[in-house]
Formats: sequence, structure tokens, C-alpha cells
Amino acid sequence: MKKIGFIGLGNMGTPMAQNLIKAGYHLQVYNRTISKADELEQGSISKCKTPADAAANVAFVVSMLSEDEIVKEATSGTDGLLRTLQKGGVHISMSTISPETSEELAKLHEQAGSTYIACPVFGRPEAAAAKKLFVCTSGNAKAKEAARPILEALGQSVTDFGEAVGAANVLKVTGNFMIIGALELMAEAFTLAEKNGLDRVQVADFFGSTLFNAPIFHNYGRLIANKQYQPVGFKAKLGYKDARLALKLSQASQTPMPLATLAHNRLLTAVAKGDGEQDWVQAFGKGVSDDAGV
Ligand code: NAD
Repeated sequence: MKKIGFIGLGNMGTPMAQNLIKAGYHLQVYNRTISKADELEQGSISKCKTPADAAANVAFVVSMLSEDEIVKEATSGTDGLLRTLQKGGVHISMSTISPETSEELAKLHEQAGSTYIACPVFGRPEAAAAKKLFVCTSGNAKAKEAARPILEALGQSVTDFGEAVGAANVLKVTGNFMIIGALELMAEAFTLAEKNGLDRVQVADFFGSTLFNAPIFHNYGRLIANKQYQPVGFKAKLGYKDARLALKLSQASQTPMPLATLAHNRLLTAVAKGDGEQDWVQAFGKGVSDDAGV
């Protein structure tokens, strides 16, 4: 049986790990709260006490952790995976993080004789469970080719953005900026329609099936129109992290992004009000409704 390391059993990591098990992999899993591993097929996993344990004696280790500092700690910290990953091993880093972090970690891997590739994904936990993620890759060509069967077990497509290791991270931050812009747009539009006597669900259905016929407008449109904020698929505090990543890139590259500033404030407000653990749809949907008094 093919054995790989898997680090991070959050909202995304758990269904992704389940798909790897379905594809025939045995997983050496690490999670901060290891009881999360109880949800996985027990015959197909070994529970590990550290990221280093998860990366021992395998050719591939996947990480799906929340943010930059956590991925760094799991990679190069005291119990980090770099301590044990074999020479020639590949770290498949799937979190939404900055391109700088990917560049930094890729260098550390290179010094250790292993390879780091960036493989962030689009799709919420339901999409992860249905193997419908869109996987985006960048980094060393040989490592990406070797990792392809693992990536194909996780999503509906794998799209490459070249050998510059941070490229897929730039793409992912760009895409999440487009999503948060669309969330604000829909929340404002549906609230405008509601306050002027229309049924916001009918409005969302009309636009989602005609002028704005695209997955983001179908899926998120329905949630925003129905004011449906449960279950939590993507936490507002992680959306806030992504808005910060977009602003950081915009500042570094001198790309003015007024819309990113607005969306950043919407997410910051949700976090400041104690709603960081709620879905980011709530940050936009409820944020706009509250402003409008409905
Ligand atoms: P989550 O909050 O559900 O899980 C986060 C994971 O990080 C967990 O395994 C948790 O144990 C670990 N973690 C958090 N803080 C830690 C710490 N201090 N020390 C050790 N481990 C720690 O997040 P998620 O929704 O699964 O997202 C994971 C990554 O995927 C994020 O980068 C997110 O932006 C990205 N992403 C999420 C979605 C989504 O819809 N949820 C979609 C695409 C990409």
C-alpha cells in the first residue's frame, strides 16, 4: 500500500484525507487535536504525534494547515517535517498562504535535499468531499509530475502555473479576492432588491441562471440570498487572512485595489465582533443586512 504523510485535519483536510484513503493511500496523519483522526477509516491511517513523525519514511507529505506561520512551524519548527522527510521527498503544500512563505520553505527544502511544491485549491469542504476541488500547482516540474496521482485523487482538475514556486499562491490569492468581491456585490445587490420589495431568493436565482451564470454566483448566491450561514465551511478569520494576503501583494506590487480594502474591512469587522469562527458568507451577508437595518 502507498504510504504518505498528511498534516492538518480541519474542514478541508478531513474530506481530502478521506479521498486519499479511498484512492488507496495509507496516511500517517498529524493534527494538533489528534481526535479529529477518529473520523477517518482507522485501518488506513497511523496517528502521529508530530509533523516530523508524519513525514518519516514517506516520499510525499501533504499539508493543509490554516495559515503561513502554522505551515512554517510544521515544516521547519522543532518537530517540523523537514527533520524527517527523506532526501528526494516532496512536500505538497495545499494551504492558502503567501508566495513569500512558499519561496522561503522551498529554499529550506532544497537545502535539506527535498522539494516543496505549492498546490492550493479552490472549493469548499463539500467540494473537497465530492472530489471536485480545482487544484493549482507551481514549483519544480519533476516533483509536480510525481505528485500528480495524489493531486488527481483530490480534485476535478490540476492546473499548473509554472516553476516559480509562489505562482499558484498568487493565483489563489487573486481568486479569493474575486470571490470576496463577488460576496460583497451579491450581499449589497440582494439587500437593495429586498429593501425595494423583491424576493431576494428569486433575484439570486434569476441572476445566477442568466447574466451571472457561474458557480460562485450559484453556490454563494443561494447562501447569501437565503441568509444561510450554517454549517461553517470557511471561517471568516481565514477569509480575513486571505484579504490581508491580497493587500500585502497589492502593496508589494503597487497595485491599488480599493475593492480589496473594502472587503478587508468587512471581514475585519466580523472578526472584531467575535464572528471570526463563523462562515465568511455571514461576514458579508449579515454585515450588509445589518448596515441596511434588515
Ligand atoms: P480549519 O480552520 O478548519 O483547519 C485548520 C487546520 O490547521 C487544522 O488542522 C488545525 O488543527 C490546524 N491548526 C490551526 N492552528 C494551528 C496551530 N496553532 N498549531 C497547529 N495546527 C494548527 O481550516 P480549513 O478551512 O480546513 O482551511 C485550511 C487551509 O485551506 C487554509 O489555508 C484555508 O485558507 C484553505 N482553504 C479553505 C477552504 C474552505 O472552504 N474551508 C477552501 C480552499 C482553501
